[in-house]
Amino acid sequence: MPFLGRFGNRQQQVAGLGLGTELHLNQDTTDVYEPGDAGLHLGNLQEQSSARQKYVCGNPECSSSWSVPWRSRRRPVFESQWGCSGRCLQSIVRAAVRREHGGERRNASAPQPHRHRVPLGLVMLAQGWITNPQLQQALNQQRTAGTGRIGDWLVNACGLDTEQVTRGLSVQWGCPVFSTDGFDAQAMALVLPEPAVQEFGMVPLRAVGNMLYLGCEDRPSPSVAFAAERMSGLKTETGLVESKAFQAAREALAAANNIPCEVAAAADLDALTARVSALLEDRQPLASRLVRMHQYFWLRLWLESGTRGTAGDLPGTHEDMQDYLFTLGGQA
Ligand SMILES: [Zn+2]
Repeated sequence: MPFLGRFGNRQQQVAGLGLGTELHLNQDTTDVYEPGDAGLHLGNLQEQSSARQKYVCGNPECSSSWSVPWRSRRRPVFESQWGCSGRCLQSIVRAAVRREHGGERRNASAPQPHRHRVPLGLVMLAQGWITNPQLQQALNQQRTAGTGRIGDWLVNACGLDTEQVTRGLSVQWGCPVFSTDGFDAQAMALVLPEPAVQEFGMVPLRAVGNMLYLGCEDRPSPSVAFAAERMSGLKTETGLVESKAFQAAREALAAANNIPCEVAAAADLDALTARVSALLEDRQPLASRLVRMHQYFWLRLWLESGTRGTAGDLPGTHEDMQDYLFTLGGQA
C-alpha cells in the first residue's frame, strides 16, 4: 500500500517510520548490531489507484495540517514522507540529518571490541595452521620490510595458501568465509555506491530471499553493512572472501554500470540540510533515503517507478537512480 496514501494519524506515521532506525541507533556499538526491519516502504513507487487520495504533510510541526488532493504534489518523497511546502520538506530532512549525525556520534563513543582482537598470527598458531618458527619468520620479514600485512607475509615467507589466511581471518573476526560463486556484478553494483565499495573494501556478493551477503578481504566494516541494510531493507551478513576472488569481484563491480554517484562536502549540518532539500526539490524522487556510512551521509534517490527491483528496496537498474556521498566540514 502506498504509504503516503494512508490517512490520518500523523504521529503514528512518524513513529512507524522511525521504528527501524531508532532500534538500530540506540545500539551502543558500531561492531555489533541486530538486523531488523529497516525497510523503506517503497510502496509509493507503484502507481496509485486513485489520483485523488489525500497526502498528509510529514512535518510533525506543520501548522497547515491540510491534505492536498493534487497528484503532482506527491513528489518529492523522502523516507516515505512528503512535505506540503519547501519549509516542511526541509524540516523533515533536518530531522533525518540530525538523526544520522547523532547516531554516528553515539557509536563513536561506544566500546570497540575489535580493537582487542587476537592478532592473526596468534590465531593461526592457536589453530595449528602454522608453527612458531613460521610465525617468527613472517614477523621478521614484515619488520624488515616495514610494510605489508602479516597474512601476506605468511603466504610469501611460509608458503601458506591464501585460503588458509582467509580462514584465519574468519576466526579472528568471528565471520564466515564466503565464496564468490554465482556473483552477478551488474546486480550487485546497484547495492552500494561504487566509490564506497572501493574505499571501504566491502563487496556485495548476492541477495537471497531477504538476505544480503557482503564480502571483505581482511576487515569487515559494520558501518557499511549497517548502511547497506538500512538502504536495501534486507538483512545483511558479512563474511571473509579469499584475496584473489575478492579482487576479481571488486574489479567487476568497478566495470559494471554503476548508479551515478556524486561525492561532495557540506560545511555543516545546516548546509547539508539545505543541500539535500534542494536536491529533492530539483530531482523530485519517488523515493529517497539518507543513511550514515562511516564519514559519509549517503543520499539515494529513486527517480522513476522503473527503478524498482525484486529484492527488498534494491534498485533493479542503475538508470533513474542517483547516489550522493556527503562529507561534513573538513572531512572531504
Ligand atoms: Zn507541512
